[in-house]
Amino acid sequence: MAKSKYEYVKQFERDDSLIPNTWLVIRIDGRGFHKFSERHQFEKPNDRRALDLMNKCAETVMTEIHDIILAYGQSDEYSFVLKKECDLYCRREAKILSTIVSLFTSNYVFLWKSYFADKELQYPPSFDGRIVQYPSDNNLRDYLSWRQADCHINNLYNTCFWALVHSGKTETEAENILRGTLSSDKNELLHSLFNINYNNIPEMYRKGSVLVKQEIDFKTLNQKGVEVIRKKKIVTILHVDIIQNKFWKEHPELNI
Ligand code: ATP
Ligand code: ATP
Ligand code: MG
Ligand code: MG
Ligand code: MG
Ligand code: MG
Repeated sequence: MAKSKYEYVKQFERDDSLIPNTWLVIRIDGRGFHKFSERHQFEKPNDRRALDLMNKCAETVMTEIHDIILAYGQSDEYSFVLKKECDLYCRREAKILSTIVSLFTSNYVFLWKSYFADKELQYPPSFDGRIVQYPSDNNLRDYLSWRQADCHINNLYNTCFWALVHSGKTETEAENILRGTLSSDKNELLHSLFNINYNNIPEMYRKGSVLVKQEIDFKTLNQKGVEVIRKKKIVTILHVDIIQNKFWKEHPELNI
């Protein structure tokens, strides 16, 4: 096609290609979800439907973008790990990030009704996103440990906070009671005041959600109508510890 005299404006575009051979982590996070969760009357501290919806969106993103090998989600955030040799969009940062963020967001809206049948979406939600590159496997493991530790700390706090509020304390009173408390104090508070054993709270709330791809055999008919076995990858959801070595030993296919 003939070039127009305007074509030179392309030169103003920046090269944003990510360096080769590094793990790519895309983390997306709901924008203003404190307010969003209030406007949609999420159950506190954990609205199961909202988490299931987040997980379904992540599953769709992971199915669509083949280079994603692992995803980890909690609260209003999801992290997607792309393999080191990923060459999606020639590793152009804006292309990769904007595609994942918009795919996740459009799914969130598209699937809303399936998870909140009785609740109209009050306004269009949005997500922010960033890409971080990790040069070593250790850095990647530490990143994922950081997110899961964050999930644990927040969930323990929120479980105490909402138990206090649901028992009649004001939010300020609950904050004051919890100020300066250690993990052990919070476990004790749940046990003595509310007869809650924190370890019995669903694993999805305590550990977050881990998505991995599993290769399975499935039977199908080829063009001649003969039954053949093909392989395909399906996304599996787990609510397990990813800080200790056990998970990584059980998933050698991740190569981490
Ligand atoms: P920002 O735009 O800076 O991310 P934010 O309001 O989204 O602001 P976050 O730190 O991301 O702040 O926290 C998300 C908030 O959304 C949580 O604190 C919680 O109140 C709410 N939230 C997210 N998911 C759920 C859920 N499944 N159940 C109940 N509340 C939730
Ligand atoms: P890429 O993912 O690389 O952007 P693409 O298929 O979206 O691939 P584009 O160069 O963005 O390619 O072109 C968008 C195409 O979408 C157009 O070529 C046209 O076929 C179609 N399209 C977009 N808007 C309209 C419209 N309003 N009416 C008809 N066709 C449209
Ligand atoms: Mg934030
Ligand atoms: Mg947020
Ligand atoms: Mg968040
Ligand atoms: Mg296009």
